Amino acid sequence: MKILVLNAGSSSLKYQLFNMEDAKVLAKGLCERIGAGGTVTHKKTGAEPFFEEIDLPDHGVALGRVLNLLSSPEYGVIASVDEIDAVGHRVAHGGEKFKESSRITESVIAYLETIVPINPLHGPPAIAGMKACLSLMPNVPQVAVFDTSFYSEIEDFRYVYPIPYEFYENDQIRRYGFHGTSHRYVSHELARVLGKPIEELKIITCHLGNGSSITAVDGGKAIDTSMGFTPQEGIAMGTRSGSIDPTVVTYLMKTKGYTAQEVEDILNKKSGLLGISGLSNDCRNITEAANNGNARAELALKILTNGIKKHIGAYAAEMNGLDALVFTAGIGENQWNVRARVCEGMSFLGIEIDEEKNLNFERGVPFELTKEGAKVATWIIPTDEEYMIAIDTQRLASK
Ligand code: ADP
Repeated sequence: MKILVLNAGSSSLKYQLFNMEDAKVLAKGLCERIGAGGTVTHKKTGAEPFFEEIDLPDHGVALGRVLNLLSSPEYGVIASVDEIDAVGHRVAHGGEKFKESSRITESVIAYLETIVPINPLHGPPAIAGMKACLSLMPNVPQVAVFDTSFYSEIEDFRYVYPIPYEFYENDQIRRYGFHGTSHRYVSHELARVLGKPIEELKIITCHLGNGSSITAVDGGKAIDTSMGFTPQEGIAMGTRSGSIDPTVVTYLMKTKGYTAQEVEDILNKKSGLLGISGLSNDCRNITEAANNGNARAELALKILTNGIKKHIGAYAAEMNGLDALVFTAGIGENQWNVRARVCEGMSFLGIEIDEEKNLNFERGVPFELTKEGAKVATWIIPTDEEYMIAIDTQRLASK
């Protein structure tokens, strides 16, 4: 079975074509500047990347170009588009309705259109991607895989905000959680490498990238997570503040005359590692600067790692124990210094990592960091959201 996985952003379209027989990626690529010019970077596995500038007025035209490239004699990996058995779409927000991945129908799209007000950035491009597929490949099953659905079983006392209840009932203001596809993938992958049923494990998964979130997975189900109504809640991120006292927002508006949009931009795009350090949102640069004695870079690292630590403590308490800790995504998979700072002084919980292994870790594969004799298994598990989407798509398309 061949499955095309699509991830549509406001001006971008990422794609990967999987051969599910051997779980290999046949080709992948990225369309950018959709609606404002257009570029395509396409890579057939094992070949040199192909790059072109081409007019891409909308997601439909971009998808058409992707299908051409995938089936072209020169750059392609399939003889014809008919070889694509199903398409899986990454959808950031499934609202309260979607408790799991779902076959895409007109009524699914209609529901997603109703929740655009609470998902204004990611909703419209995802819907555009689905509509483009339905029109270009009307007979191919389409599946939506939601970042929020892993959190659909979280209990109400963990997702209702302590504000007047009518904002939840009437305005859908609640915690939803994001990055669920990544947390779901790495928690299952961890159970697989440990050779234990996930039902028997209490796991904390730390997805640390440009956006970061932490999830408590008890018995295979997410019971709590750090992101909330939007991906803005939680720990400090590359450019996002994470959780702060909400009064900071109104104070800034009242005293500095900022508009709501201006404050949102400050908290979303100018905060986090970038805002604290004044240097960069990239944890590699922050680490280098901190190592060279830059005090604000050091402060940024401390704020980041202390936030992670606090969530680990809280989630171990909520689960009444902890069997395993997972690091994933750009920072989690690559920055040994962040992992070392997070795990330092956590032996009371059973978390202890082997310094040597943490320093000389292997990239791109599940890698164990646990110190001999430690109670909690600590692992790096490379995330693969696209493959998780392909698996769900295969399952639902075959039904
Ligand atoms: P995104 O949320 O955009 O998918 P990533 O998961 O790619 O982000 O993570 C980006 C972060 O990972 C950056 O802060 C970067 O510094 C850090 N990082 C550290 N080492 C690497 C590496 N070798 N490759 C990619 N990102 C890395």
